[in-house]
Formats: sequence, C-alpha cells, structure tokens
Amino acid sequence: METTLETTDAFAGLRCVDCGETFDAETPHRCPDCGGILDPTYDYDRVDLTRADLEARRFDTMWRYEELLPFAREHAVTMDEGATALVEAPALAERMGVERVFVKDEGRNPTGTFKDRGQTVAMTAARMHGATDVALNSAGNAGQSAAAYAAEAGLDAHVFLPERAGFTQKSMTLVHGADLTVVPGEIGDAGAAYTDAMADHDWYSTKTFVTPYRHEGKKTMLYETVEQLDWQVPDAVVYPTGGGVGLVGMHKAAREFRDLGLVDDLPPMYAAQASGCAPIVDAWESGADRHEAWGEIDTVFGGIAIPDPGASPLILDALEESGGGAVAASDDAILDAAVAVARETGIEMGATCAAAAAGAFELAERGEFDADDTVVLLNTGAGNKDDDVLRGHLGTV
Ligand SMILES: *Cc1c(COP(=O)(O)O)cnc(C)c1O
Ligand SMILES: [Zn+2]
Repeated sequence: METTLETTDAFAGLRCVDCGETFDAETPHRCPDCGGILDPTYDYDRVDLTRADLEARRFDTMWRYEELLPFAREHAVTMDEGATALVEAPALAERMGVERVFVKDEGRNPTGTFKDRGQTVAMTAARMHGATDVALNSAGNAGQSAAAYAAEAGLDAHVFLPERAGFTQKSMTLVHGADLTVVPGEIGDAGAAYTDAMADHDWYSTKTFVTPYRHEGKKTMLYETVEQLDWQVPDAVVYPTGGGVGLVGMHKAAREFRDLGLVDDLPPMYAAQASGCAPIVDAWESGADRHEAWGEIDTVFGGIAIPDPGASPLILDALEESGGGAVAASDDAILDAAVAVARETGIEMGATCAAAAAGAFELAERGEFDADDTVVLLNTGAGNKDDDVLRGHLGTV
C-alpha cells in the first residue's frame, strides 16, 4: 500500500508535550526523542473560520471542522460520526438547582460511543501511513470501535480486551471481523498482551495517547457543544474520566475556539471518576501535578477504571487552567444516577457514563454550581452497551 500523507493547510506537525520538539506527520506515534505524547499543532493564522462560516455548514458529521483536524474530510475513514444531539434535561436542572442541564449524547455514534471520534481520525492516519494492520488494547468500547473503523478502511484489526469487557463489545469486535484476544485480568493485563504481540508484528497502533490522533478527534465534542449552545460557553462540562482522552481533547478545542476569537472563555472541565479507581481525583485533591498509580481496582466500570493514566499531567493542567475540578462517586451512586436519569428524563446513559451524572449531582450538592449555570454532561456511550449492568442494579433501587 502506498503512503499518501496529505494533511490540512494549517496543520503544522506533531509537538511532543514533554520535550517540545516538533515532528512531521510521517512520525506515526510517540516522540522519537523522549517517548512523550505527540500533540497535533496548527498555524492558527491560516485558519480562517467565523461563526457565520460554521453556521452555514450542515451539522452532519464531526468532519465539518476539517480546518482544525489534521486530515481533510475527503480522505477520512468515516461513518458520519459526531454531530450528536445536545439534549436539554430540565428535570436534571431542577434536581441540581441550576438553570439548564444538557446531555451531549454520544450514544448516537456508529458504534454507540464517542470512541468513534478518535478512531475515525486514527484510522485515517493508519491508512495514510500505508498500514495493513492496526492494534490496540482497550476496556471494550475502543476495541469495538477500532474493529468497525478497520473494517471500513479495509484494514485488519488486532484487539486485546480484558475478560471483564462487556458482552456487546467482545461480540461486535468479532462481528466486524477483528482478531480478538481476551486476556484474564484487567486492562493493564490486556495492555501487557498487546505489548508482547507488538514486539513480534509490524502493526500500527491506534491505542490511547500512542496515536496522536484520538484526542484530536475528540476535540470536536466541544466545538459542537458550543455551537449547539449558540456560542454560549457552558459553566461546567462534566466528563467520565479514565485515560482522559476526551477531556484533554475538549480542553484543547476550547482553547482553539478562544484563540480563534470564536468565544471568550474556557468552560470549566470536571473529571468524574469511580471511587474504586480515582487516581485523577486523588492527584487533584492533593494538588499534585501528576497521578500516582492506583492499587487495586474496585469498580465495575471498566471504561473509566484506568489505574495508571499516562496523560494525567495534561488532564490536571486542563482542570486547573479551565477552573474546573475532579469528583469521585461510588459504584452505587453511579448506577443510581443512571437509573434516575433514565426515569426522570428518557435519556439512556451508559452505566460508565453515568459517572458524569453522579459526579455532577455531588458537585451540585457541594454548592459548586450557581443558580444561573448551564451544565453539560457527557454521555460518552449508549445505555444499551452495558444494559445488563443497569438491569442488575434494579433490584437495589
Ligand atoms: C473510554 C470511555 C470513557 C473514558 O474515556 P477517556 O477519554 O479514556 O477518559 C468514558 N466512557 C466511556 C463509555 C468510554 O468508553
Ligand atoms: Zn519528546
């Protein structure tokens, strides 16, 4: 396969967040000098975007922001992901004592989670780099998404999931034709199996913060939210946080919109975690600038149970710079919140995603919000992706 690495006009290369060195897009993954995370950069003077320009475009897919993405829409491996609904939930506003609550419903993506926004960009890069095979380990949703986008791109996917990954995620990974390895233990064990396999194969990684492009795709959630609020910047964005890809991406997006003069402020970003695996909340509360690896995982929410999130300095910076914070909730409180949202509104929150709702309820109780606030909850995935977990909780509600 031939390499056709065509990037967008303003794209200015990949900058290492640790050593600051910049590389061109030929570099597929981490920093060749120090191993740091690479972050796509742009020459913003070459981005000519006004509110009116964006409003004139159809609200059809996340690729409508192609000037702020590394690759053009015409080259994308896409299934029209993004452009998800922002659903107002007055019942939740009343419960939280704020003016308005919105749920950004990422369940409406091709494979039912926001992971599709990352895989569409990462898979586009993989195909441009001439890859034949892609690989990653995941808690479940990213694996399913990678299997789907690899199928769309005509590539072979090798997916490593821990045993505890959901039935739907494992099944659909196989249905898409991927090579699935189920590993006993937790996500770290799946990661070790992935690393072993990578040593023997020339596979292209689409793993979290190994590819520079997953957080880049997830930026679009914030662009969309601000446009859907008629350019109002929300007073809080609450995000169910594991590796923090979405949070780091959204914060970057907010800075870009501000620097382009499209909005004035940054929305305060809040990381919500399960108290059985909350390294970001611990680091935030102790004022540290990076996390300490969490010991034993004691939560059923695999998607956010990331004990050793390598991007924690970026996450903590985003919380600090935006004036947000971090909050943990118990598994019981998270499941209660998912059921409450399903009953007080019609919205189906994924079990893991309901950490955002439980976290927001807790923040509201602590008096973190004002009566005239607009709060956005990220529903990162559909309720039916792990409905067994929600159903199992009903006996106790
Ligand atoms: C992956 C995932 C998360 C956590 O995302 P990060 O960006 O890694 O923090 C949250 N919710 C769902 C449904 C997920 O699949
Ligand atoms: Zn570096």
